[in-house]
Amino acid sequence: MNKNQYVELLPIFEDNYVFVLVDRASSSALVVDPGESSAAIDFLTSHDLKLKGILLTHHHPDHIGGVQELKARFSCPVYAPLKNKTQIPFADHYVQEADSIHLAPFSFQIMELPGHTLGHVAYWEPQHQWLFSGDVLFGLGCGRLFEGSFAQAYTSLQRIKNLPPESLVFCTHEYTERNLQFCRILSSEDNTPLLGNAEALDQYASDLRTKRSQQRPSVPLVLSTEISTNPFLMAQDEEQFRYLRELRNRQ
Ligand SMILES: [Zn+2]
Repeated sequence: MNKNQYVELLPIFEDNYVFVLVDRASSSALVVDPGESSAAIDFLTSHDLKLKGILLTHHHPDHIGGVQELKARFSCPVYAPLKNKTQIPFADHYVQEADSIHLAPFSFQIMELPGHTLGHVAYWEPQHQWLFSGDVLFGLGCGRLFEGSFAQAYTSLQRIKNLPPESLVFCTHEYTERNLQFCRILSSEDNTPLLGNAEALDQYASDLRTKRSQQRPSVPLVLSTEISTNPFLMAQDEEQFRYLRELRNRQ
């Protein structure tokens, strides 16, 4: 891993992260899903970084609230999902499935991952194997379905599952501890269709406890770890996924 290129996590609101992709060599950065602007402005100015672009995964206010202030201040281009053009009219470029974006030294492939919202996209950075996945997948959980169908959300998760196992998933919310409680409830349910790997989950819980007790984020997620512990990724079909999501909605 090139230490000159890294992702900084800026906590905002109750449990959101704004991601800043830093390239030290060019003293430039990209920002993903700025729900508000002040954290990013403070970070960029104190590190003397030029903002070269803003990437948006979907139109929810806690992901786009800071965009216009950042754009006005740094005059950088904004990338947003084509299917959210009406909700995000202030973007400069609209992206869709299989598009590529080059913002040197980073490059991204666009994956349309409907479910949480219909227009939701993720930004896959193949060189670093980073996925910026907004509200599609969370640590031990997945995003609520506000607009999409169970079938769409299930397919979207399967697509993430097919990325290289060592990929790092940058999801926008720190929900992992809450989701761990759900996994514990799930493992005590008699009729759960899933038989997760209990040992892997215990290891996950122990790592999570260590990180959180040191105020460290649980994000980025390691995809291979999620594949062996996250019930929503372990669901074998759409029906199992629906069962889990409906159970989780009632928690
Ligand atoms: Zn959202």
